[in-house]
Amino acid sequence: MNVTDVTTERIYNFSAGPAILPEPVLRQAQRDLFSLPGVGMSVLELSHRGKVFEGILEKTQQDLAALLGIPSNYKILFLQGGASMQFSMIAMNFLPRTGSADYINTGEWSKKAIKEAKRVGTVHVAGTSEETNFDRIPSQQELSFSSGAAYVHYTSNNTIFGTEFSYVPSVGRHHLVCDMSSDILSGPIDVSRFSLIYAGTQKNMGPAGATCCIICDDFLETAAEGLHTMLDYKVMASNNSLYNTPPCFTIYMVGLVAKYLLDEGGLTVMAERNRKKAAVIYDAIDSSDGFYRGHARPDSRSRMNITFRLPSEELEKRFVAESESAGFSGLKGHRSVGGLRASVYNAFPLAGCEALAQFMDGFRRGA
Ligand code: PMP
Repeated sequence: MNVTDVTTERIYNFSAGPAILPEPVLRQAQRDLFSLPGVGMSVLELSHRGKVFEGILEKTQQDLAALLGIPSNYKILFLQGGASMQFSMIAMNFLPRTGSADYINTGEWSKKAIKEAKRVGTVHVAGTSEETNFDRIPSQQELSFSSGAAYVHYTSNNTIFGTEFSYVPSVGRHHLVCDMSSDILSGPIDVSRFSLIYAGTQKNMGPAGATCCIICDDFLETAAEGLHTMLDYKVMASNNSLYNTPPCFTIYMVGLVAKYLLDEGGLTVMAERNRKKAAVIYDAIDSSDGFYRGHARPDSRSRMNITFRLPSEELEKRFVAESESAGFSGLKGHRSVGGLRASVYNAFPLAGCEALAQFMDGFRRGA
């Protein structure tokens, strides 16, 4: 294939992650990739120990703090090993070997977090919807916490099943730990309710390569001693994520995304856009006379990942093939749910949701 034959047009990217990024961010990265203004080299080539990179890291942290309203007694870290590494780090740092922690089990990612925690201590499942293939979020009343739990862990948005907590669980005096990988920055949150928030950067925050971890100083103080250095939150915090070489480019990109979101008006604006975008696709499902069936129950629907089935697997295959020809990418669902999944993170445009709704309508009529 000749490179000149390759399209450089952007298409509607419904990927669950790594996922679509804001166009102004991509354009600025493209400009800066040859030389950062006034620096004479790109962020790919800078020492992480120099003033320029330190400035990029600090500005990224400041802008995230401004966006999310992160109080000053929290550290903002950029760690490696993906959100999956956090499943282990959280348990190793905060779950005593003879102790227990409470986990709310709402899907594949919660299960993986539970699996790693069980290697360290005892896990009590505080609530689950596994019996109905994770089609809903348990209500606050269904959750039961154990008195001695070191912390309560939950997944705020279930990327695979397409469900999302519409509330922050009340956990009394327990520490609350949350995997926000797929809905962080989608709307405002009260960070002070959480002892630890973590999120892989590759959905709403930027490209793959880092995990953002927002951790309260009081909780950090309680971390175990004597851990392997790279798995020790205290080491990562006291070195401001610079104990070893950090994912410099990803952090720089998260900084551009944070700045972009501030310029757009912040997270209240994003929440309203996300609500509108998701409603367009859910309306297409709900008005299809049962042709499209949402996996998530209406009260548990995710604004980020919209999962739905068609009347047969054959139609689902045809839908994927035809949608790809029509310029939609990444709609095939995860094998645990089957069917289709439209991921519409912050950077995904409303016009793309409208185009998909129209395509869905046309496909149904032609089926
Ligand atoms: N948690 C959630 C909610 C996710 O969606 C994902 C990845 N899609 C992960 C954890 C794992 O992230 P990583 O691939 O960065 O380890």
